[in-house]
Parts: sequence; C-alpha cells; structure tokens
Amino acid sequence: AKDQGRNTYQFYTEGMQEREVMRLELEKELSQALANNEFVLHYQPQLNLNSGEITSVEALIRWQHPHRGLLAPAEFIPLAEESGRITDIGSWVVMAACRQLAAWKGTHFEHLRVAVNLSGRELDNEHLVDHIRDALNAEGIPPERLEVELTEEIFIQNIERNRDQLSRLHDLGVHLAIDDFGVGYSSLAYLRDFPVDLLKIDRSFITEVTLRHDDAVITRAVINLAHNLGLRVVAEGVETQAQLDLLRGQGCNMAQGYLISRPVPAAELEQALLGGTLE
Ligand code: C2E
Ligand code: CA
Ligand code: CA
Ligand code: CA
Repeated sequence: AKDQGRNTYQFYTEGMQEREVMRLELEKELSQALANNEFVLHYQPQLNLNSGEITSVEALIRWQHPHRGLLAPAEFIPLAEESGRITDIGSWVVMAACRQLAAWKGTHFEHLRVAVNLSGRELDNEHLVDHIRDALNAEGIPPERLEVELTEEIFIQNIERNRDQLSRLHDLGVHLAIDDFGVGYSSLAYLRDFPVDLLKIDRSFITEVTLRHDDAVITRAVINLAHNLGLRVVAEGVETQAQLDLLRGQGCNMAQGYLISRPVPAAELEQALLGGTLE
C-alpha cells in the first residue's frame, strides 16, 4: 500500500510538472500571438424575437494556434488573465470589432450591433474607456453600435472603480450587458446602481426550460424584472424550437444559440444572412 501510495504520488507530480511545462509553453506562445496576428473573432447572431431579424452579433475570440489548431477561449483566456496579457487581448478585440463594423458600413449588414466580452480584469486598465473611444473614433463607429458584456463578478470586486469605469463607458454611448445573468453571487441591488442596458440569461437556465418548471419560473421572473427596470433580455444557449417558442411567449427580446447559428467567421455569417437562413 505504501509503494502504491508513492507511485500515485510520483504519477501525480509528473502530471503536474507536465501540465506546468505545457502552461509555460502556452504562456510564451500567447505572448507572441498578438504580434503574429493569430487571434480571430467569430460571430454568433442574436435573433430579435419581435421582428424575426438578426439585429446583433456576439464576437467570440479564437486563437488560431500555429500547431495546436483553433483554440477556444477556455483554453487561453484564464491564462491571459493570470499573466496580465488580457489587457492587450481585450484592446485587440475592441479594435477588431470596430474594424468589422466599419467593413459593414454601406453594406447589407450595416445595422448590426456587435457585442464584445470583457473580463473583470480588463476593468483594472484605467485606459480602457479611452481606448474604446479611440477605437470607435478611428473607425467612425457610433458608440451605440458596440455592446460590452461583463459577468456579475464586477459587482463584487472593486465596486467603486468598476462603477466609475462603466459609467464612463455608458456616458460614451456604449451599451452594457450583464453576461451569464443569474449564476453569480451578486445582489440585485447592483442593477439599481450600475448603468446596465441588457441582461443575458445564462444557458444553464435555458437548457431544460421546457422540461423543468423551476427553470421556466426563473426565466419568466428574470424577463419581468428586466422589463420593469427598462432593460432588454437575451436568452443564451437556445438549442431547440420549443425553447425559442417558450421564451418568445414569455416576452424575451432576443435569443442566441446553436438553433439559430453557432459562432462563425464573418464571411460565413454574411453568407447565412444573405441566404436568409437565419431569420
Ligand atoms: P460566453 O460569453 O457566455 O459565450 C457563450 C459561449 O457559449 C460561447 O462559447 C458560445 O460558443 C457558446 N454557445 C453559444 N450558443 C450555444 C448553445 O446553443 N449551446 C451551447 N452548448 N453553447 C453555446 P465560447 O466561444 O467557447 O466562449 C466561452 C467563453 O469565453 C465566453 O462565454 C466568454 O466568457 C469567454 N470569451 C469569449 N470571447 C472572449 C473575449 O474576446 N474576451 C474575453 N475576455 N472573454 C471571451
Ligand atoms: Ca458573452
Ligand atoms: Ca454568457
Ligand atoms: Ca459564460
């Protein structure tokens, strides 16, 4: 038993070392990724449940890694947050989204809004709001065409500073969304104190919303709460027509999920929109 214990321990430390080596390697590669232009934004459309039109898209980052393939954010965003690289990545995301909005000017897609994700760590950057303003100005984009999605953690940490950052962003005209709404530990009081424009109901409430009475009660309550506060609501992770119908019946404003489209490169989104296959 003793030997076995030791073997297990060795195996464990070797595994840890391997993971540590891998992490360091990835961190090194991450430091080159921006310069090598390896990041790309994919876009997932949001369906307006009143008009039946695609009115906005969420930009989701991917890393086209030179030999590991296309990496999802879960594989590098936490690392980027730890190492502080997230600041530069966030700046790139905002700039790339503004460039895309500029490319859509004068086209069939000119009405689209783009939502970008910012992690709480990015609010540490005191130049964030200036950077966003500069990016919008450089591309001649009206601020209300840009949305910023933030998770509830920003209501818990550095509340004063975050409220100040978000107020400045909101004064600029940028729309603010609370992402993954309902899964955080935040008190609802913050909805009163922060300049929020929309709530995104977390996918975990949507997955079984047609099967579980509790989930349907929660989505209905969130939708009513949001509307009474003058906010719009987006349901995330909509995968079935039954979910879409239920949410529309509850008065939800928009839906996003694989039922409508997976996140895709801009060119693919344009094709789908032109083909009318999303509406
Ligand atoms: P999120 O903001 O909650 O994004 C939604 C995630 O759910 C996306 O995963 C999307 O591909 C996935 N999804 C969308 N519809 C469905 C569906 O119907 N079913 C299922 N099962 N999944 C669906 P993705 O692209 O892997 O992104 C994961 C997370 O990474 C995002 O969660 C966001 O928190 C973060 N992230 C993505 N892009 C960025 C970025 O540019 N900056 C930062 N800081 N974080 C980002
Ligand atoms: Ca999001
Ligand atoms: Ca989300
Ligand atoms: Ca999420």
